[in-house]
Amino acid sequence: PAPAEKTQPGWDRPGVCGLDNSGNFCYFNAVLQCVCSTVPLVEYLLHQDTLKTDHSKCQVAQVFVRLLEQMWLGRSSSCAPVEARSLLCSILPQFNNHSQQDAQELLLLLFNALHDDLKKVLWRTVLVSTSFAQSTIVSKLFEGTLSYVTVCMRCDHQTHNTQTFTVLSLPIPTHISKCSIQDCLSLFFEQTLLTGAEKMLCSACELRKETALVTCLDKPPEILVLHLKRSNQVKLRTNVTFTTELDLSLFLSNSAQKTSCTSYRLYAVVNHIGHLNMGHYTALCHNTLTRTWHCFDDSAVRELHDNHVQSPDAYVLLYSRKLFRNPKIPECRRQLTSRWQKVSEYQSKAVR
Ligand SMILES: [Zn+2]
Repeated sequence: PAPAEKTQPGWDRPGVCGLDNSGNFCYFNAVLQCVCSTVPLVEYLLHQDTLKTDHSKCQVAQVFVRLLEQMWLGRSSSCAPVEARSLLCSILPQFNNHSQQDAQELLLLLFNALHDDLKKVLWRTVLVSTSFAQSTIVSKLFEGTLSYVTVCMRCDHQTHNTQTFTVLSLPIPTHISKCSIQDCLSLFFEQTLLTGAEKMLCSACELRKETALVTCLDKPPEILVLHLKRSNQVKLRTNVTFTTELDLSLFLSNSAQKTSCTSYRLYAVVNHIGHLNMGHYTALCHNTLTRTWHCFDDSAVRELHDNHVQSPDAYVLLYSRKLFRNPKIPECRRQLTSRWQKVSEYQSKAVR
């Protein structure tokens, strides 16, 4: 069944659709809103006709596409993501206990599930080489690479390793009440000295000695997801300030430096309000069509001034390297066309 729809006369905002909550699913709704405002992903998914007809093992992608269609129709200010919620609970039992879960964890699991489903579609529809079929729209957009260099403090022997990531979990400086997202990034990429139990066994001198570790960004992702590590035992309430523009050039590895564009623009934020296990999640998302921010508090939606995006409750931040263009989406093409007609009518009147 398609998500229950409440058509609202006069509501005409594709991509702006609140999500009803039943129980403790605000973390789920907040994550869905951020994914729903990731235009390149939405556009890709809504053009996958094979997903709609093929009833085999791509359940997550199928259910997700149905929900996105609903949200991008623009006819109602909210809908109930019942199908997506029950599917999630059935395939990920850890989310089935009606207690509030971590939004960042869900985002990662959702990316993985979508990535796996889309790989199956690619394998079936085209004869692709194994290496190519490993990448999907999810990995193309969200995957970046970190490089690690370790240096043995005794013999200077170096090792180089790389690792892919989809979410960067940033430490927050403790003992201060306010810092910037750049401070968190600096702390993450800071050179560290591994001592005590963390010392690494050097393959050259075969001794376990103090080791210097340098982390750099080797391949900046198209879409950067930053998670602020607020929760260890207690919630860190440090106010992490952020701007809509973010530059990562300081953290690039030497090999990446010449080729990569590293300036990003913020397009979605997950806020976490209150205590660790009994708080509330909301999402702030930028809509490319209205060019405004909206605050999504479950089914409640309100437009937000740019100045109010900054909040001490920020928990996950999504940045894009490219400005999102207006989405070419089959279901909302009608609305877009009528909107453009209105604009051109107005302009032609003005000329007369
Ligand atoms: Zn050594």
